[in-house]
Amino acid sequence: MRDALRLIFVCSSLIWSLQAKSAAIDVLQENTAPIGTYIQYYLEDTQVLTLAAAIQLFQQNKFISSNKASLNFGIGSAPVWLRFEVNNPAAAAVINRLSVETSWMDKLTVYFVREGQLVKQQLGGDELAYSERKIKNIFFVYEYAFEAGTTDVYIRAETPDPMVLPVYLNSPGQFASRHSVVDHSYGFVYGAIVTLMAYNLMLFFSLKSRYYLYYSVYLFSFLLCNMSYSGYGYQWFWPQSPVWQQWSNPLLMMMFLLSGLLFATRFLKTKYSSPRVYNTVIFVCSIYVVCELLAVLLGQQVIALTLSFTFVFLFSMTMVSLGAISFYAGNQSAKYFLIASVSHVIGSSITAMTVWGITPYSTLAYRAVDIGMVIDAALLAFALAHQLRVNQEARVTAEKQARIDPLTGVNNRRAFYEYTQPMWSVAKRKHYPVSVVLLDVDKFKRINDRYGHSTGDKVLMQIAGILRHDARSGDVLARWGGEEFILFLPDTDLSEAESIANRLRVKVSQATLTGIEKHDRLTVSMGVAYTEVTAMSLDDLIEIADSSLYRAKTQGRDMVCVESASPEIS
Ligand code: GH3
Ligand code: MG
Ligand code: MG
Repeated sequence: MRDALRLIFVCSSLIWSLQAKSAAIDVLQENTAPIGTYIQYYLEDTQVLTLAAAIQLFQQNKFISSNKASLNFGIGSAPVWLRFEVNNPAAAAVINRLSVETSWMDKLTVYFVREGQLVKQQLGGDELAYSERKIKNIFFVYEYAFEAGTTDVYIRAETPDPMVLPVYLNSPGQFASRHSVVDHSYGFVYGAIVTLMAYNLMLFFSLKSRYYLYYSVYLFSFLLCNMSYSGYGYQWFWPQSPVWQQWSNPLLMMMFLLSGLLFATRFLKTKYSSPRVYNTVIFVCSIYVVCELLAVLLGQQVIALTLSFTFVFLFSMTMVSLGAISFYAGNQSAKYFLIASVSHVIGSSITAMTVWGITPYSTLAYRAVDIGMVIDAALLAFALAHQLRVNQEARVTAEKQARIDPLTGVNNRRAFYEYTQPMWSVAKRKHYPVSVVLLDVDKFKRINDRYGHSTGDKVLMQIAGILRHDARSGDVLARWGGEEFILFLPDTDLSEAESIANRLRVKVSQATLTGIEKHDRLTVSMGVAYTEVTAMSLDDLIEIADSSLYRAKTQGRDMVCVESASPEIS
């Protein structure tokens, strides 16, 4: 019983609220949402209607009640007449602001009618130069003092662009606070994009990597494109140019889409990884550009816009596909790119569905593309940073590899000279002692012959390991070639060098080497040269070490021979 009563109550209050909505709007009541549910509309057939004709059609019940808060008739709609009643219950006139909040409406005329008589008529729409607007705002704002009793408001809207009509009626104070939110939110979006753009331009100039330039161009195009449809471009940059305001939308949209694809294909290296996909993208883009420019040249605004909006859809799909293809091909940076594109697609789809009237209008849904783009831009910055890191790591690895002997992992000859040259210069200037040890494995050919080349390799690796392990931290060890190694000992005199060499010699000869039999004990011969660097070069010193090594070989191997090139000792 109680449930039944509750149901009756809910139903009756619903019916009551529906009736209330189709009635007049109270001018004293604040409406934060669009007032679509109070509106009745009529779509013009072929003829342009006069206000009198529109009033007559309304009286003949030809107007349809809207059940949506924000009316929407899609792209290329016929001109629309809107009508609603405003009631002022007070005795004195109340000033309110009526605003139609889509910046791209071409023609917008508002008529205030009392008792069937036109009281005031006001022009709007972006065909009128921004500088001529009475109330300077990105949207179309009309201020009117509503006298006591009812006033009928008729609005005629005409545009080839999406016919989206969020109509608001607010007190001047409420209007100002609502618009301050709008201005701040755009300020945030533009601030974020400009910051990212400036930062990436700086990166481009300092790192000379063209991706940053493409990315900055992409962000710049987004900024321009967004400003052209948000109305801020008209407000800030071209208030005197209604013609450019008409065409900027499809043209800047084209620039945005092309720069996005330019960045994507370069960043993901699509031309090299998927040439066929790349060629298709170029082909479709070319067709789009030709058609778009033709439409603009022929003054076909609806075609130009439809082309751009269709291409937006293709663009979103392409960006996601390019990211996915590249990611599956193993490009790690494409992961960020993919998430970025998906966030952009989600954002622009929500906005597109709102603009096309598929989903109900709300400020957040309408602005989803901006939110998506800010996320997109931030993630792309991540993708760029990730790629920079990957490239840097690859370069560091390549540089490292160019210095390292691939078999033994110790320095190669090139690295030996790179590391020792500065030490040699310091030693020369300060007269520090320097020693060089040249080491050659004894009878190594025999190891290869008996166990095979690959075992020989493993033995060389083990010897290199022993030398590396036992060399002091400041010493420079390198593979000199074949089964020869070199040790550069800075700040080391002859006797010290000799004892180091002997210690290493004993270490190797006592080492248990895997791969060869125990009785095949491996030994090394060493030549040591010493100098207190005077006029000689490092190569001269190495040559002396080589001749010492030769002596060690001829005197029976498994020994250390020394020679001093220092004038004090020799
Ligand atoms: P000794 O120096 O005592 O006079 O005799 P040896 O047999 O060590 O000297 P020789 O110069 O005649 O031979 C050096 C051998 O080292 C020949 C070559 O095949 C081997 N060798 C050089 N580099 C490598 C390498 O990278 N891997 C292997 N497995 N063997 C190598
Ligand atoms: Mg040898
Ligand atoms: Mg040799």
